[in-house]
Order: sequence, then C-alpha cells, then structure tokens
Amino acid sequence: MLRTHTCGELRLADANKNVTLAGWVQRLRDKGSVLWIDMRDRYGITQLIFEEGKIAPVLLEAARNVGREYVIQIEGTVVERLSKNDKIPTGEVEVRVMKLEVLNASKLPPFTIEDDTDGGDELRMKYRYLDLRRNPVRQSLQLRHKMAQQTRTFLDDQHFIEVETPVLIKSTPEGARDFVVPSRVHHGEFYALPQSPQTFKQLLMVSGFDRYYQIVKCFRDEDLRADRQPEFTQIDCEMAFITQEDILNTFEGLIRHLFKNVKSIDLPTVQRMNYDDAMQQYGSDKPDTRFDMKFVEITPLTKGKNFPVFENAELVVGINAIGCAEYSRKQIDELTEFVKRPQVGAKGLVYIQYRADGSIKSSVDKFYSADELKVWIEKFSANPGDLIFLMAGEAATTRKQLSELRLFMGEKLGFRDKQKFAALWVVDFPLLEWSEDTKRYHAMHHPFTSPKPEDIKLLDTDPGKVRANAYDMVINGTEVGGGSIRIHDRATQQMMFNHLGFTQEEAKKQFGFLMEAFEFGAPPHGGIAFGFDRLCSLFGGAESIRDFIAFPKNNAGRDVMIDTPSAISDEQLKELGLIIKK
Ligand code: ASP
Repeated sequence: MLRTHTCGELRLADANKNVTLAGWVQRLRDKGSVLWIDMRDRYGITQLIFEEGKIAPVLLEAARNVGREYVIQIEGTVVERLSKNDKIPTGEVEVRVMKLEVLNASKLPPFTIEDDTDGGDELRMKYRYLDLRRNPVRQSLQLRHKMAQQTRTFLDDQHFIEVETPVLIKSTPEGARDFVVPSRVHHGEFYALPQSPQTFKQLLMVSGFDRYYQIVKCFRDEDLRADRQPEFTQIDCEMAFITQEDILNTFEGLIRHLFKNVKSIDLPTVQRMNYDDAMQQYGSDKPDTRFDMKFVEITPLTKGKNFPVFENAELVVGINAIGCAEYSRKQIDELTEFVKRPQVGAKGLVYIQYRADGSIKSSVDKFYSADELKVWIEKFSANPGDLIFLMAGEAATTRKQLSELRLFMGEKLGFRDKQKFAALWVVDFPLLEWSEDTKRYHAMHHPFTSPKPEDIKLLDTDPGKVRANAYDMVINGTEVGGGSIRIHDRATQQMMFNHLGFTQEEAKKQFGFLMEAFEFGAPPHGGIAFGFDRLCSLFGGAESIRDFIAFPKNNAGRDVMIDTPSAISDEQLKELGLIIKK
C-alpha cells in the first residue's frame, strides 16, 4: 500500500512514529522559513510541516511547488503540534516530512474544495468528481450507504430475499411515461425501462418467494420539476400471506430501525390517519404533522351577511396562527401576497386578529359584527393573542391553498425543524381518481391495487367513492413511501382493467402474463416501495435529493458532466432501424 495510515488517523499517541501518508493537498501556508500543507483524504486532514534548517532545501522547495489538489505521498515522523487545533481529530499532531513525492499534479480546480465552496450549481455538476471530494457531499453519500446497509440488515433479519428484476422490460403503468430502448435485432420494437418492478415482484409472490425486496433503480419520464430525477432508487418490497396491518407494522419497523441505527433516534409511534381526514384537516394527503394548526370549517356561520366571497363559497375554512395577533399590516400583506402567487393561486386572505386585550379586528369588519366574529373565534378555540386566517371557494382547491399557507406559517413560526421527525401512515386512499384531461377515472396508485372488498359494489354506481387498500408513509410532510394490497385473482383484475377503460384485448396484450399467473395459484399479497433518495435527504436534513445521488441529473434532466442526453450517429440510428435511409 502507498500509505501506513489515513489522513484522519494520527493522534498524540502516535508521536514519534514514522508514517507514510497519501492524499490531496487541501491548502498550503508558506511562512518563509516554515511551510505547512494540509493533506486530505476521505478520512480527514493531517497537517504536514516543512521547516527550514531541519530538512534539505530541495525538500522545502519541492513542498513549495505543490499546488491545490495535487496528489502526494509523504514519509515523515509524527510530532506534537505547538499550536493545537481542537476542531479536527488529528489537531494535536503534525507530520515532519522527510520525503515527498508528487504522485500526480492537478490543474487549479474550478471551485474551492471546501465545505462552503465558491462553486455554483452548474459548475459543481460539471465537475461532480471534484464536488464529491467535498465533505458535505461525501458525507451525504456515506449516509446513503449506511441507510442501504441498515435496510438490508433489517429486511434480511425479517427473511426478505433480495432479487434482481430486469431493466429491459415492457411498460408498467405507474402513471408516468416510459423511457424506451429501441431494439436493434427487432426493428420497430422497443423495451421500456421499469417505472418500478411492480409486476415482477407480484410474480415473485406467485412463485412463492413470500418476502422480496430490492434496492432498485426506477425510471420515469415525467415533466421536469425542481428536484425530480428521471432515474431514482426505491426500496421495493412485497410480501405474501399478509394483511394491510402486517405491512404497516413491518415497514414501520423498518423506518424505526433506520432512525435508531442511522440517527440514534427513537421515532415516536407512527400515527395513522385516513385519507379523508388528512384532506379535511390538513388539505393534503401528505400532511406535515410536526405541528398542529388543523383546519377549522365555518361555512354555515358565514352565510347571509352579504359578504360575496363567503356567500358564494362552497367552503370557508381557516387556521389559527397561535400568538400572531400582533402581526403588522405589512406582515399580513406579505401573507396575502404569498397566497396570491400563481403557485398557490388564491384570490385573497381574510384575517381576524384576536388581540391580547380581547378586542377583535378583522378584514371583514364591515360584514360581521364583533359578536359574530366571536362565535367564529370560539370555533377555532382561539385565545387572545391569536390570529385566524380564512380562505374560501371551491372545497378541494381552497383546502389545497390553505395547506400551502399552513406550511408557510409553520415554517415562519419555526415548527418545521429539520431535526425533528413526525411519521404518519395515510390509509384508505381512493382507488380511482377523475382526470379532467382524459375525462375518465385513473388508478390513483396503480391498476393492481385492491379495492376494499366492502366498497366493490360502488364501482358501478359511484367509482370515486371506492376506497383502496392503499397506504402512504409520510414523514415531515413528504411522501416517502407508498404501496397497497394487490388484486390476486384474474376476474377482479380483469374487472379493474375494464373500469380503467382498457378493452379486453388491450388488457390481455399488456398484462396477460400477470392475469395468467393469477390463475396458477397466486397467494394474497401486497407491498410497498420507499423513495430511497428522498428518504436519505430527509435523514440528512437536506432540502434537495441531489447531493444524496453520486451523479445526478440537473433540473433539465441533463447530466452536464458526461453531456447527455446527446445525439447518436447516423450509423447507430440506422442499425436501430430509426432512420430508414441516408
Ligand atoms: N410500485 C409502487 C410504486 O412504485 C409501489 C408499490 O405499490 O409497492 O409506487
């Protein structure tokens, strides 16, 4: 080996040892007669000292000639430092160098390799291999590694078997577009990259594998959005002979295990909430339950007073911002601006200040008397000092808008501490979702999800009301995982495809293999998949998933380092049958 120790290893107890180290030049401080080099590898930083009079002048000269990010190897003796640095574990020692060899020179890096770099996003992505030398990025990937290890440990203990499923497959509907790969040997035919291994993991249940998992790449050609990656990783799982309750308990166990073993956190009990309550109380199917601020509906109390906005509204609903009654005009205006932004899309915001002295001031004083407002305030269980915000309009839209305001206020009031974790199961999702675009129902989760048996009768009469045995895990307002109990018989699966608008032939062509498998003894089964990148970023307390992926795509779906997507040669196109002649 080119080294006896790493750059993070030496301590006072190693004093007087002769050592060989190898690594990168982080920094050089030249005081004329003394010169120090900070030498870095993934384990840490060790200070090297070169002192005039104590070493050959050529060695001092050689040290002076190395630049940032040079790869060097040194031999020397560990000594106690005169001025110690208690910020790093090696801070009590330095190495008096006797021999220095440059293993490789380096061009000046385009940004500083420091925790706080001067490099912008695009530059860091173009030179991602340099960015990965920085502590915060490396630590994020180390966290990811640990998460993967602990996931495997837990699932292995629970007798899950890791099975790899193919990457060149045929379309699986998870609601996004497929990435496709043209076949060279079968012109005009294409593979699709998996949006998830959904059908394969179900087939593994038919095969009797009983408990499957895979930490697996999935591909979805969705519209670009900040922080969305066209390829991402899931912890994908499936179990046979289970009920929904078993799945919730098993995977609550996984999440708990990860918090315990990766972050030394005992996660409080994972609460459960049904979809309807989540929508009604938080306006979201992924509520951030680190804080309360639940919705209160007061629609009937607002009617008959000629305030047009409320008079015509299907829903009048609000939140209580505890202790915010003294907000200034300017602060309230800011919040009004916030809800009016196109991303939120509300028309306005009504407020009621319940001041500390018990007086009430509101933006609707003209329409409602103090006594009437008092009744509203009671509905909110508000106390003097509180500030109530109300929004009105079509129910679903208004809830969504108020949910944005709730999160914004939660942030402002410091309720969304990244080091605090609140996990939640959202259960009883609707089976189907109406699409205005296509004017028909789509599977909310995917077409293999089982309706609740007691709701099947509603499929023909009121499809929107049918609930599914489907669940999501939400942590801090982020959906980290989701799954369902599956259909496991041909007749029900066929019926589901009918309801989703597939003709018998289409269903057979796309999913005939699965329906046929259901006729060969398919056990009852269900599963879940966790978004692994997102879970890692959540554990890392970060906003973005990007630094938890070694080589991510940018927000335009490009890898700017290898420069892809990119054109391919006419030769290749011809071979693939994608151009006929040229
Ligand atoms: N395949 C689903 C997904 O990717 C997860 C599941 O149902 O297990 O969301």
